Amino acid sequence: MVEELKIEEIIRRVMKEISSKNETGEEGAYGIFQDMNDAVDAAYIAQKELIGFNLETRGKFIEAMRQAARQNVELLSKMAHEETDMGRYEDKILKNRLAIEKTPGIEDLGSEVFTGDDGLTLIELSPYGVIGSISPVTNPSETIICNAIGMIAAGNAVAFSPHPSAKKTSLKTIEILNKGIIEAGGPKNLIVAVENPSIEQAEAMMKHKKINMLVATGGPGVVKSVLSSGKKAIGAGAGNPPAVVDETADIEKAARDIIAGCSFDNNLPCVAEKEVIVVDSVADYLIFNMKKNGAYELKEKDLIEQLEKLVVNEKGYPVKEFVGKNADYILSKMGIKCDDSIRAIIVEVPKSHPFVVGELMMPVLPIVRVNDVEEAIKLAVEVEHGFKHTAIMHSKNIDRLSKFAKEIQTTIFVKNGPSFAGIGVGGEGYATFTIAGPTGEGLTSAKSFARRRRCTLVGGFSIK
Ligand code: NAD
Repeated sequence: MVEELKIEEIIRRVMKEISSKNETGEEGAYGIFQDMNDAVDAAYIAQKELIGFNLETRGKFIEAMRQAARQNVELLSKMAHEETDMGRYEDKILKNRLAIEKTPGIEDLGSEVFTGDDGLTLIELSPYGVIGSISPVTNPSETIICNAIGMIAAGNAVAFSPHPSAKKTSLKTIEILNKGIIEAGGPKNLIVAVENPSIEQAEAMMKHKKINMLVATGGPGVVKSVLSSGKKAIGAGAGNPPAVVDETADIEKAARDIIAGCSFDNNLPCVAEKEVIVVDSVADYLIFNMKKNGAYELKEKDLIEQLEKLVVNEKGYPVKEFVGKNADYILSKMGIKCDDSIRAIIVEVPKSHPFVVGELMMPVLPIVRVNDVEEAIKLAVEVEHGFKHTAIMHSKNIDRLSKFAKEIQTTIFVKNGPSFAGIGVGGEGYATFTIAGPTGEGLTSAKSFARRRRCTLVGGFSIK
């Protein structure tokens, strides 16, 4: 018995040795470990090394991460598309570029200052240490690039627990970013993960003593689990963004924007338009213009029912096979042939329809007709379910825009544009792939991953 145990232990250690060595022969040099405890321990050491460098050098590491990712945009986009079998390659290129170029770096860490007769007090943003981040299948490389840039810019190391269905893409992203940091003279293992991510490994990560902060980007389950961890946690959860259109809107532009937003990466982004609520007097013209911009309308009741049976299961959740699939693929399963110029399937349904109430994450866009803007706003608030995520409105009436923004309380509110304008594509502002509605950080960036600390110098340095 004792002998057997010994042999098992030896095999375990040899396997660990083999698996965690890369081509340079260094253990865990590119951040991928077999065991989460070893990964977090290595990240802990890396973070101590990171804060030994000055800010200018930290900035160089961030630039090296961006550069390494830039050189691999096509590879990561292709890998994500093939591995997850979701979304569109060309849109994934755009999303990766967005994460690389528009995620803020160390410049995000502004200080606050108080001066007066009693001297000088600074509020500075300093690191938590090692952050545990759980990432989704829908934006695998983008979330890792974005979180890693923000977290390291704030002086942290990060242990990722990626979605198992996007394992290869996620681990490759981590490897590429680590290589960039190491080549720029930075510490190894600033970004770590395990070879076989799973919910169990995510739980081990959440419980690890050296993890000081948790960030979850995903559905309600994972957000709940980080918020009940007893640690400081940021929860970036699900959305169900409504797009409201009233009779004052530029209907032709609204139709174009809504189809562009809802079909972007086949509706995988959490910000993407998930249902349209339109005032009756302009509904027909909106639908007419959507069809001019790549929408295919299913009108017959039995076809709508057939689509519902196909893409929604008996519990009301989207059928996995259709999540993030092209509209022409979904239609082909109903025996309808069309080409790839069809970007979205539109259907007019009642307000309680499963397409409206739930987040489908596929280019199937339900449209609900209402009598007036009051009814539209009320229904939009209802179907957003208090997620505080994203809402869109097309209107030229400032009072109505303000009223809806105030009532829906979402983190992102886009006026007269496609949803992705709210994360910096054709709209002002930086980008993020972790939108923290429930915990209030909003569009996360380096400063969200830093602790506020106060430093007081008594009786000097005020020259007022
Ligand atoms: P998901 O919740 O299935 O998985 C997200 C991650 O959490 C994965 O890594 C998964 O392995 C892990 N996970 C799931 N349950 C867990 C648990 N109980 N304990 C520990 N880990 C757990 O979500 P998904 O399908 O990958 O992504 C789509 C969802 O994420 C959608 O609801 C979308 O709206 C949301 N999302 C939100 C944001 C945002 O910024 N708010 C961004 C992207 C996606």
